[in-house]
Amino acid sequence: MRVFSNPVGAGTLWFDNLATADGTPVAYDPQAREFLPMPPFCANRERIGCNWIAPKEGAFCRSCAMTALAPDTSIPDAIPNWAQTEAAKRWVLDNLGRWHWFRPEDPGARPVFHLLAEGPTPVPMGHAEGVVTISVAEVDPVLATTRREALEEPYRTMTGHMRHEIAHMLWWRLSLRADFLDAFRAVFGDERIDYPGALQYHYVNGPPANWKQHYLTSYASAHPHEDWAETAAHLLHLTDIADSFVATGLSSPQIPHTAWDPYTEPDAQRLIYISAALTVGVNHVNRSMGLSDIYPFVLSDHARHKLAFVHNWLRRGAQGL
Ligand SMILES: [Zn+2]
Ligand SMILES: [Zn+2]
Repeated sequence: MRVFSNPVGAGTLWFDNLATADGTPVAYDPQAREFLPMPPFCANRERIGCNWIAPKEGAFCRSCAMTALAPDTSIPDAIPNWAQTEAAKRWVLDNLGRWHWFRPEDPGARPVFHLLAEGPTPVPMGHAEGVVTISVAEVDPVLATTRREALEEPYRTMTGHMRHEIAHMLWWRLSLRADFLDAFRAVFGDERIDYPGALQYHYVNGPPANWKQHYLTSYASAHPHEDWAETAAHLLHLTDIADSFVATGLSSPQIPHTAWDPYTEPDAQRLIYISAALTVGVNHVNRSMGLSDIYPFVLSDHARHKLAFVHNWLRRGAQGL
């Protein structure tokens, strides 16, 4: 994520800021990618702290307008959980916008979000024909950690959920193209194999013994759809880590120059090489605070090949190039 300039004074603004350091209200314009000091603010600004501008007074911003179902606010913590979920959604949508996805210049369908609070039963997350369903309860650190342990996942965040589920929607968008499916199946396998059966097999039997040689995560081994979604989420993680690293002025011998933009880097292997090197460094920095690794994954040659495939399609797909 980039770091932004203050439109009314000195200093910088971070993507989630609602005001400058001296308290002037500001809003983010996702089209211009800059902060503005004036309304119209998103209609969700007071309620859930959305800091994007709206097309007109009283309207929702581009991101909130994609939320067709908001949580039942009678469920405890639904509003603060929803606020954090929308913040993760704005972040990921802005990332994807760097490749023109879901911006006005993208002629294709936008995702429709169902952001649901959980009662006694869990809300299954997923994607079906353009509709992305997310459980806002997953921002709760206790719940997320409990599920992470139960599913033996090294990493589980709302940003990760957004990237994974939107990746399924991006696959659906790409599958409408004539040239995508054959290329996809050559790398990820045939996604027409029984999906519910494959997932059930995975949950009963676990991943194949050698999954680390072929997949980024054990869940990716369950089905080609999940392999795509996990791989695409990881491409977004790695690209954004590199972008944030460069945006804050940090340097590393791998970075070609200070104006390097990971989102316009055409060479996937180069992007993956640089990002992976940065994660090794930032993992080490995190350990100096006793924190867990920012990126607790190892990239096999197979995984790098699949990441490059996803990169090739995501960076050109929205404009049909
Ligand atoms: Zn909004
Ligand atoms: Zn999935």
